[in-house]
Amino acid sequence: MTGPGSDPAEVRRAAGRCTGLPDLAAAAAGCTACPELVAARTTVVVGDTPPGARLLLLGEAPGAQEDATGRPFVGRSGQLLDVLLTEAGGRREDVAVLNTLKCRPPGNRPPKPAESARCRGWAERQLALVRPALVVALGLSATRWFLGATPLGPVRGRVHGVGGQRVLPTYHPSAAIRGGPAGEPRRLLLEDLRLAVALSRR
Ligand code: URA
Repeated sequence: MTGPGSDPAEVRRAAGRCTGLPDLAAAAAGCTACPELVAARTTVVVGDTPPGARLLLLGEAPGAQEDATGRPFVGRSGQLLDVLLTEAGGRREDVAVLNTLKCRPPGNRPPKPAESARCRGWAERQLALVRPALVVALGLSATRWFLGATPLGPVRGRVHGVGGQRVLPTYHPSAAIRGGPAGEPRRLLLEDLRLAVALSRR
């Protein structure tokens, strides 16, 4: 397999050459930028990008079930996400769903900064091609992908403008599964998804 090498600029250039989402999916599927991830992965989880999606959900990285199926958010977190999205008035099939990292980190370890930097070009190009009205950043990694080093609390539940893109940071569904004081993360994730669905329709 010959894909982009380990310099993030190579991925950015490869992604920039893609003029459409099918193109990009094919190019990302052959990415070789992170040797440790390439060796461990079953599939590259490029993401779901239905035509005309106005809402885009950005997560962190694929887990075991995503790696096995090639689709984002199909494991436990994804199942909860689907339930909450439906409760919020949205439909999974209308929504674009991506991760900041396209390959599963072995053992579900957090992505390394160098991996995130290399992979960034794929999601940046996907955003430029999908042009969603709103992005929901699920959890701290996705939030920092847009906003840089910040805790989640102070930025959550509000829309931020980042280089012309509207971004709404919120909890990752895994935080809602873990629970927290009085089910707060789940309640707030649902509240934020309601806001996101409403805003994406305007
Ligand atoms: N967690 C994520 O951040 N993304 C997935 O696709 C699955 C779990």
